[in-house]
Amino acid sequence: MLHSIVSHELHGLFYLMSATLIHQVLAPLFIYKEQQRNLLFGILLTILLFFYWNFEDIDPFIYSLHFLPLSLTTVIIFAGFVPAAMTWISFNIGCMLILNYYWEPALLSSAFILLGSYYIRHKVNQLNLKLKLTYAMGLLAVYEVLYAMLATYIRSYFSLYVLYTISFTFISLLFIIFLVFHVKKHEFHRQRIIAIEKDRMIGQLAATISHEIRNPLTSIRGFLQLLDQKELPLHDQKRYIELALSGVDQANTIINDYLNYAKPSNGLQEQLDIKEELEATLRFITPLATDHQVVIHIVHETDDPLFILGESKKLRQCLINLVKNAIESMPDGGHISLSTCKQPSGVQISITDTGVGMSKSQLDSLGMPFYTTKEQGTGLGLVVVMSIIKMMNGKISFSSAINQGTQCSILFQQK
Ligand code: ADP
Ligand code: MG
Repeated sequence: MLHSIVSHELHGLFYLMSATLIHQVLAPLFIYKEQQRNLLFGILLTILLFFYWNFEDIDPFIYSLHFLPLSLTTVIIFAGFVPAAMTWISFNIGCMLILNYYWEPALLSSAFILLGSYYIRHKVNQLNLKLKLTYAMGLLAVYEVLYAMLATYIRSYFSLYVLYTISFTFISLLFIIFLVFHVKKHEFHRQRIIAIEKDRMIGQLAATISHEIRNPLTSIRGFLQLLDQKELPLHDQKRYIELALSGVDQANTIINDYLNYAKPSNGLQEQLDIKEELEATLRFITPLATDHQVVIHIVHETDDPLFILGESKKLRQCLINLVKNAIESMPDGGHISLSTCKQPSGVQISITDTGVGMSKSQLDSLGMPFYTTKEQGTGLGLVVVMSIIKMMNGKISFSSAINQGTQCSILFQQK
């Protein structure tokens, strides 16, 4: 007898735990409103209940004395009144239509605790574990007593069977409340940590950006003050205006680079042929290269297309940044070679220049926000590049020798 009770009760308990687990995984993925999350819990439990009716060997007595009050109380304590009402309806439909078992006592007792829960609906969210357990136990006790009073067959055949069933129900309830409480607490802590981390990042970035923008602003102010002098020669006036304008451009570039970095991706993953992407970048950048007396060659190791998954706009932005750096590293002109090839682990793009090159310590500083050796640089170009490559599951590496040139390679893993 004991064996059968425990087995049936465990089955019900597992269904309830599955609903909790699935809810825990699904809710944070795409539901942000607490109310909708709670509703999802009710829906999941109802769906699982449907499976329970269809696939389990149900003991109607344990269904009414264990599974029903256990689920209803858990939903009341953790999800609130509306999901609880949903659970109440579905469980009672089960009692009436599926099991066709003495449904009146279950309906009335569960309606009673559901109504009771209506009055504490605003409180349950704020309760600590001890109070949640106390409330849950109280609701369950009310249910069981009412049920026993209404169900004459229990009063006339009060037996060890009933006693065991009810005792295990209380133990199950203690267990499930404890479990769900801790699972929810973890989720809550995780969200808080994410929120704190976001605030910290935003604060830090805002501080660095404002610091960086202050430099051009200070110089613009200086030049404007100089312009304010009386009888300033026209030649100087022109020069100060040009310098002030270049300060405005500088501030503008910092803001643009930062916005590119902070702009979230649209998440679109299209199939891209890196050869085509590189050709498009070349077409775009050729005027700038010609201006700087830089000649660009492009070499493809294979005629086949080399596909990766990613976002074309972002990849091109990334390649333009890298080629621009290569051009800027050759103030007196030079050569850039762009190449693509297939590697055992993926496809690779290389950008090689014959520019000033970098020392070991310069190489180590690459990708640090605002690291720049250029007068007009922002030091944000490579930050953007690296975040895009990371997002596209790629790896970027640099090798360089002073006064000889730099090679940048990006390896994209092929799916
Ligand atoms: P910016 O171009 O605004 O300076 P980047 O993040 O694009 O910022 O680059 C940071 C620094 O890395 C540059 O200032 C430069 O010193 C160095 N760097 C990047 N690419 C090259 C390259 N191809 N050759 C030499 N130095 C480079
Ligand atoms: Mg740059």
